[in-house]
Amino acid sequence: MTFPDDLNHLIRTDEPLGPLVWLGIGGPAHYFAEPVEESDIERLVVAASKASLPVRVLGDGSNVLVREAGVDGLVISLAAAETSGMSIEGNLMTVGAGAKLSHAVIKAVGAGLAGLEHLVGIPGSVGGAVVGNVSSGGRDIGSTVHSIEVLEKGGTRRVLSQDEIGFSHRKTSLGGLIVMNVVFELESRDAAALTKRMQKLWIGYNASRPTEERRIAMPFVDPDGMPTSDLIQQVGLAGLREGDVSLDTGKPHFVVAHPGATSDQCLRLIERVREQVLLQTGVDLQLNLQIW
Ligand SMILES: Cc1cc2nc3c(=O)[nH]c(=O)nc-3n(C[C@H](O)[C@H](O)[C@H](O)COP(=O)(O)OP(=O)(O)OC[C@H]3O[C@@H](n4cnc5c(N)ncnc54)[C@H](O)[C@@H]3O)c2cc1C
Repeated sequence: MTFPDDLNHLIRTDEPLGPLVWLGIGGPAHYFAEPVEESDIERLVVAASKASLPVRVLGDGSNVLVREAGVDGLVISLAAAETSGMSIEGNLMTVGAGAKLSHAVIKAVGAGLAGLEHLVGIPGSVGGAVVGNVSSGGRDIGSTVHSIEVLEKGGTRRVLSQDEIGFSHRKTSLGGLIVMNVVFELESRDAAALTKRMQKLWIGYNASRPTEERRIAMPFVDPDGMPTSDLIQQVGLAGLREGDVSLDTGKPHFVVAHPGATSDQCLRLIERVREQVLLQTGVDLQLNLQIW
């Protein structure tokens, strides 16, 4: 496809996605753009929609596995500064979808606003966190969301209230909508006490993930009632290896991509784990990781 002339400067073709995702593997995006202006995102989405070109949004890449074949469409990265703004009015904090979740947590805590601190340490962008309704310690991000601004395929922006977002256990019903901004409704608290609480949670969170590994992902949603790590330990799969991809030994709910890893190996490993856990425990693990 050819993009309109005034968008061409934004488009890169056959852009490798491996370096942009946490697992560090996978093929290229046929078209890739990292728009600086929010209005460019709209124009890109409209142009792609007119050409029936599928669009995917990339946040921080901590929950995406890109297949070897790559993505046959347009990938829009929300890493630019204009999509990462934050502002506070009373107990409402508005955050651009591209902002890092950890930055939003720090900003809220510093302003004496409680509600997000339990999410400290979870990697990724605010947009990715809301779309996947991330959770930690039994509390999800959805409970603090007041509303979001989304971009529809045709380029129209809409504001959705918390009820319309359809938050459920590690899911939303946002479909193909692009999250542009998120408004959190938080509670006023003492900033110093909140900071202490956040620091404590941060230490606990860091201890719960493999420290030496950077190329990792958390492929499964914890089923209600039992952490995935316990299930995997129970069936004796901790450390399971498929080529150059393995489950972590101590924290086996994490997949680790070693040098030489491929997406196919990762997919095979995930399938083996699902099969064995289903066979031995009857639990059908659901995927958290988005496969592109
Ligand atoms: C080490 C590690 C620890 C983790 N710990 C936790 C945890 O404790 N709890 C938890 O719930 N998750 C956890 N995760 C999963 C991951 O951090 C979250 O899913 C995160 O919110 C993904 O955000 P992202 O910006 O990286 O999304 P990406 O990986 O970039 O994208 C994930 C999906 O969201 C979509 N998306 C991203 N941004 C937008 C947007 N603006 N609009 C529409 N769609 C969008 C993408 O298209 C894709 O389908 C962990 C992952 C890792 C690697």
